[in-house]
Amino acid sequence: MPRQSRAASDQPTREKMYDAIIVGAGVSGLLAAYELLRLRPVSAVLLVDAGPPLERRSAQDATTGGYGGAGLYLGGRLYFGATALPVMPPVSSLAWLRPALSGDAFARRATEVDELLRALGARAEWQQRPPEPLERAIEQASAAGLDYVTSHPSRRLSQEDKLVALGALRERLLAAGAQFLFGAHVDATERDGEGFRLALSPASAADGGAGGIPAELRARTLLLAPGRYGAEWLRGAATSLGARVESLPSTFGVRLEAPASVYDPLTDVNPDPRMQRLTRDDALIKTYATCPGGLVTAVRRYGALVASGVPIMQREQRGPTTTVAILAQPGMEGASGVWREGERAARVLNERTPDRLVVQRLGDVRRGWSTTEEALAANGVRPSDSTAQPSALHDVYSAAYWRAFDDFIARLDQLAPGINAEDTLIYGPAEERFWGFPTDELLQTTTPGLFMSGDGAGQSQGIIQASVCGLLAGEGMARALG
Ligand SMILES: Cc1cc2nc3c(=O)[nH]c(=O)nc-3n(C[C@H](O)[C@H](O)[C@H](O)COP(=O)(O)OP(=O)(O)OC[C@H]3O[C@@H](n4cnc5c(N)ncnc54)[C@H](O)[C@@H]3O)c2cc1C
Repeated sequence: MPRQSRAASDQPTREKMYDAIIVGAGVSGLLAAYELLRLRPVSAVLLVDAGPPLERRSAQDATTGGYGGAGLYLGGRLYFGATALPVMPPVSSLAWLRPALSGDAFARRATEVDELLRALGARAEWQQRPPEPLERAIEQASAAGLDYVTSHPSRRLSQEDKLVALGALRERLLAAGAQFLFGAHVDATERDGEGFRLALSPASAADGGAGGIPAELRARTLLLAPGRYGAEWLRGAATSLGARVESLPSTFGVRLEAPASVYDPLTDVNPDPRMQRLTRDDALIKTYATCPGGLVTAVRRYGALVASGVPIMQREQRGPTTTVAILAQPGMEGASGVWREGERAARVLNERTPDRLVVQRLGDVRRGWSTTEEALAANGVRPSDSTAQPSALHDVYSAAYWRAFDDFIARLDQLAPGINAEDTLIYGPAEERFWGFPTDELLQTTTPGLFMSGDGAGQSQGIIQASVCGLLAGEGMARALG
């Protein structure tokens, strides 16, 4: 990338018209800036992120935002994964959904990302096979009829490797003239003639005014790369800019809580073991967001109060219970059949216990009894969410869900004996939502000049895939800018 000089006083202001603003400094946003400045070195590029800059992040903190985003800062295991973007789901999907990139073309771009990260200092070597304990766990899952989701070959970057690579990438971007604005949440987006106008606010009271965050910014092209946790915001932003957005069926279910020792056989090998099984009626039933020694908490999402997990990064600080969601992800066809009622479950449970989650013992779910305060007080597993209301949720989910759940948890019990116990706690509702955003092959949406990339747009599920999306979007913006 050619070097540019930049005036020290060149702070982001509402008067300046950027060539490109990139919302999200995760791998997708970073690689988009890299590619745009490589192909069109004169571009004025600003990356905006609600989180902190690299030097203010900490590996002990599970916060997913800031320079480097979620995966490259907190995780760091590199793998190519599904060789298609967007990753095609195993259940039926939107009729228009086609890969923007696949096969050899994807492999070439993924190799490019891998080589770039290596050149930046991410030196770990590729391991062709999973480590022996993981290989055994995959075999045991398969014997229990579960598909263990993992991807090899892979290489795991050390914390030092990640910091070196992220720091070197930042230096390259700064040298090429990119600017960064941290602690700035993009609240709203609107069209401004041929370009875009963004309304911003400090991401937290602590950041208020600290970096001189302008209330407004303008750009000729806009890339939205807010990551998985920004998907709901992305849907709103894309809609307000007139881009086509389509809802996928709600992925719904419950969140389990069991003694950490019961789930240790799985989480000792991999802190977030993802297991899944296809049902006969076009749904995937799966584990989601496991938090070993973590907590259950209620969060507002999608206009509902839903059960979420809080991970505890430091092993010595973990609590006595592990929590994992068991979600059903219906396909489009399944959602118009037996998997119809996903969104309704959240609504009904929220009406039943406003502002609190429902918690029920698994034994009571099976018997069709409400769990009482006394039964919960006497239960072997203590609820980590003390605000959850002991009550009933068994009657809210369909027979299809419980059939799939019972089958799934019986298989899981072969890997984590004791998970299918009467004292296991079941919280509800749990829900995840996804949207489809039609784009061209360089990730431009149906609104000219508006691009989106990465996990938030449902295109990727990992660092390398999200980075490849970034390269495509960077090329797309360079082309749009001319
Ligand atoms: C704990 C954890 C560990 C992971 N480990 C791995 C791993 O080892 N290997 C792997 O391949 N994948 C891993 N992943 C998945 C990986 O995070 C993603 O695939 C990848 O980070 C996606 O990159 P992204 O750029 O799309 O989004 P992200 O990395 O999530 O970055 C999005 C950024 O956008 C910012 N943002 C969002 N909304 C706004 C807004 N409105 N205004 C301003 N800023 C905003 C956020 O602050 C964030 O920094 C992990 C995920 C998590 C949560």
